[in-house]
Amino acid sequence: MKASPEAQQALLELADLDTELGRLDHRRRTLPENAELEALTVRSAELRDAITLADTQLADLDREQARAERDVEQVRVRIDKDRDRLDGGKVSSARELESLQSEVASLRRRQGDLEEVVLELMERREAAQAARDAAGADAGTVAEETAAVSARRDAALAEIGEAAAKADRTRSSVAAGVPNELLALYDKLRDTHGGVGAAMLRRGRCEGCHVSLSTVDLNTVRAAAPDEVVRCEECRRILVRTAESGL
Ligand SMILES: [Zn+2]
Repeated sequence: MKASPEAQQALLELADLDTELGRLDHRRRTLPENAELEALTVRSAELRDAITLADTQLADLDREQARAERDVEQVRVRIDKDRDRLDGGKVSSARELESLQSEVASLRRRQGDLEEVVLELMERREAAQAARDAAGADAGTVAEETAAVSARRDAALAEIGEAAAKADRTRSSVAAGVPNELLALYDKLRDTHGGVGAAMLRRGRCEGCHVSLSTVDLNTVRAAAPDEVVRCEECRRILVRTAESGL
């Protein structure tokens, strides 16, 4: 293939721009904010689960406490009734009196036990409420952090997008000056060579694969006409000759 030395040198500009575009794309994909946001999403889901669990526990404890309080009340009513009968002098039989007094004593013990249960439930409720409050506060912090990191990521993406758009525009104008056939070859090589389809020959070395040309290959390049498009024998990229080539 033949192309003017100027067109060949324009490929070096394209290669620089493509390297820059590749770098920007890599930066876009590997923004630290992406990993941060992923971690925050996981944390947020964990907290949502913790809040749901605590809310369920609170509802269960409220129900249990209400039931225990009703039980206490029932026992208290029963004691009052027994007390009324004892105090009202309605019980004459000694056996009945004894049995009633023993029932009151037993009901008092039962009342004490139930009141213990209520206290214990209140303590458990307090602990569950504290866990709920902590998870709620953490969820708030995570939401704030997520908003801040998202804003940082969006700013970085906007900056990268701007730089990429600028490089794209420059690339279009440089590519417009390159003959179609040469550009097609460059683009094909670019696809198969990690985004760079042409490299400078600098002091006898291919800047694409960083391999120095053998004396034989160097002599072949020396012998080639300036408008001959030469390729690196090692990486097959278009080898562009400049004043720095050491020929
Ligand atoms: Zn090479």
